[in-house]
Amino acid sequence: MSFVNEKEREHTKNVSGKALERIALEKVLPSPENYELWFVYYARSVPEVVRVIDGIVESGQKINDYVCGEVHSRFLSDLRNEEAVRNAGEQVQNAIFNVSGMVEGVKHATKSYGNTLSDVSTKIGVAKSQEELKAAMSVASESTRSMLEQNQRLEEMLRESSQIMDELKRDLEHVRREAMTDGLTGLANRKCFDDEIDNIIQDSSERRAVFSLLMLDIDYFKSFNDNFGHQVGDQVLRLVARTLKDGLKGKDVAARYGGEEFSIILPDTDLSGAVIVGNALRKAVAGKDVINRSTGKVLGRITLSVGVAEFSGEKTAEELIVRADEALYTAKHNGRNQVAAAPSSR
Ligand code: GH3
Ligand code: MG
Ligand code: MG
Repeated sequence: MSFVNEKEREHTKNVSGKALERIALEKVLPSPENYELWFVYYARSVPEVVRVIDGIVESGQKINDYVCGEVHSRFLSDLRNEEAVRNAGEQVQNAIFNVSGMVEGVKHATKSYGNTLSDVSTKIGVAKSQEELKAAMSVASESTRSMLEQNQRLEEMLRESSQIMDELKRDLEHVRREAMTDGLTGLANRKCFDDEIDNIIQDSSERRAVFSLLMLDIDYFKSFNDNFGHQVGDQVLRLVARTLKDGLKGKDVAARYGGEEFSIILPDTDLSGAVIVGNALRKAVAGKDVINRSTGKVLGRITLSVGVAEFSGEKTAEELIVRADEALYTAKHNGRNQVAAAPSSR
């Protein structure tokens, strides 16, 4: 902990007070995440958080726990991941620094060990007495012993370092996976989707391959939430996510695009194939009862509307997403619980 001067203390108290007031005003949970979010907002330490919160307020959208959670997980959980990666990087650097120092030391010692041995060999060659021979031999065995010791220390150090690296590799893999996963549903998150769609656009442009994009949105989800509560709403999101995952093949990517919207990338699939997949997923979701876990009572069924677009050489993901979104809007407009295909743009 570093020393904080009086001015900084005042500032922190002021920011903290504002954060707590806002939490009370918006009637959101006084959880550590919400406190962090509002603290960061009033401290203006993460510009994206300020921008997004101001945008939400300007648009007249209500601030609630769900909105706070989304902003926190989008901007503040990632920061934590970045810090984990930075820390891991520092540890690796330290390990390399220590090992290379030791290797330098051993290199130097090996050279002088070589010199000592050739010295001893000369002395043995010209030794005139038993004593001179014995003295030369004891120099040789002493420096051999110390050389072995040094090598053993190096070996230990290398073993330790490689253990640290293995652990770090595992930790980083975990962080990387978490940073790409939506916490609620376990599907790919928005960031992962953005990366994947950029990749497949580039790859399909080069290979002149086909692929399709599905945008899926739960119908009347708001009323489901309002009737049964947010937790049941979350349970529905997990049910839909699981159903989507179960209905897809290995290379397909299903992501939570945001809120109650999902997106799916289908590699090597044309429009008519994608419409078939969309309908199969739609039917699978519509066929499942939503059950209240504690009472076992059936709460009802949910349906999806789906918009499908086939990649047609778009330069940016945005253009393709807009086309799939327009198709989704058509599916909603035509009565929901259906799939609509975007007209070809060529
Ligand atoms: P439409 O058929 O036109 O899609 O109607 P809708 O009610 O599904 O659409 P709308 O966009 O008006 O409402 C979506 C609601 O989804 C708003 C929000 O309360 C809820 N929601 C979004 N994300 C979550 C979440 O993570 N958990 C829960 N429980 N609810 C969420
Ligand atoms: Mg929606
Ligand atoms: Mg909806």
